[in-house]
Amino acid sequence: MANDKGDDVTEKFTGNFTQQEPIPEAGIEAAIAVMRHGRLHRYNVVDGEQSETALLEQEFADYTGAKYCLAVASGGYALGAALKAMQVQAGDAVLTNGFTLAPVPGAIAGIGARPIFVETTDQLIMDLDDLSAKIASSGSKVLMLSHMRGHIVDMDRLMQICDAAGVAVIEDCAHTMGATWDGVQSGRHGRVACYSTQTFKHVNSGEGGLLITDDADLMARATMLSGSYMLYENHLAGAPVETFEDIRLDTPNCSGRMDNLRAAILRPQIADLDAQIAAWAARVDVMTETLRDTTGLQLVQTLPKAVRVGSSYQFLLPDFNTSQMIDTVARCGARGVVLKWFGADTPAGYTSRHDSWRYADAQSMPATDRVLAGLIDLRLPLTFSLDDCRLVANIIRQEVNAIHQQG
Ligand SMILES: *Cc1c(COP(=O)(O)O)cnc(C)c1O
Repeated sequence: MANDKGDDVTEKFTGNFTQQEPIPEAGIEAAIAVMRHGRLHRYNVVDGEQSETALLEQEFADYTGAKYCLAVASGGYALGAALKAMQVQAGDAVLTNGFTLAPVPGAIAGIGARPIFVETTDQLIMDLDDLSAKIASSGSKVLMLSHMRGHIVDMDRLMQICDAAGVAVIEDCAHTMGATWDGVQSGRHGRVACYSTQTFKHVNSGEGGLLITDDADLMARATMLSGSYMLYENHLAGAPVETFEDIRLDTPNCSGRMDNLRAAILRPQIADLDAQIAAWAARVDVMTETLRDTTGLQLVQTLPKAVRVGSSYQFLLPDFNTSQMIDTVARCGARGVVLKWFGADTPAGYTSRHDSWRYADAQSMPATDRVLAGLIDLRLPLTFSLDDCRLVANIIRQEVNAIHQQG
């Protein structure tokens, strides 16, 4: 069936939005080698052996340019460990994005601290005027900055604001592994950065996390927290041994280590990351070309200094009302295009938002609410070809047009 532009408006997309690529063969072989020798625990090494986990840490430190790197059990664990390693206390106010995913406020609440949400702009980045206002009103000394969906805020201005106010920055880089701001790796502006290696991020070990910093004391504390016992000398990107003198006795063990099997799977993926980023960029370009000039559809602009990793795609339908948003999701869904809407009153899938996090104090977020009311999100797995992306974007364009015309 064709519409008045001659488009086939019945064509369906049959791809799977949650299907990632297979693990690279080199990772499968390395994982089998680990299973064959049986030394899965990161500190279980024979004489002269470097564990897969220690090698992963060294390679990720090299990739990002950080002095120190620690591999842990999940991205959320890394965020919690970063807060504790910075000695944030229960009851402290911690600034964070009003628009992010649940593990971020969860990490703050998990140590008994209080999330203070900062407004989001229609570029899906933190509103820096609101950040300044909330620093002043809360007195908080810590910002957990989430580069939500890979959209990077003006890091020069953000760091100026935070440095001037004595606010330490933890970067949540779950969506920016490999991304850059003005040529500098995302995660290298704040005091510490946390990454996730969970299946839906940029590298896939099922579960896992990485923490990087140049701060030796912070890294020593994070290492003890992660469950290093007194084996921290077996790290290749760890804090200097003398840093542990007191820290090893003062820091509780809250085990959350990575194991050699997952590290073995990840190492070849870190080596491939830049090629994967280029593949994502090509998919994002096709989406943007196809969606551009769709009436009523607003693209999300990336700031000129940011290089985004396009593992997901977002756009706004600012003038659509609730029933039109529901219609968009339903009509695209009927044609095989799985969209997530962040504006729904009831959280579904990964779309919870600040007012669904009832463990945090209720906060008025009018600007963020306005953005989320029109925000659509979709995954872009690398199993999609460029033609797949063109079809997905065409379906979205056609259905948005149709709903727009109904008025
Ligand atoms: C996935 C994610 C995390 C945490 O990752 P897990 O490894 O699942 O704990 C943190 N922040 C954001 C924005 C995420 O999407």
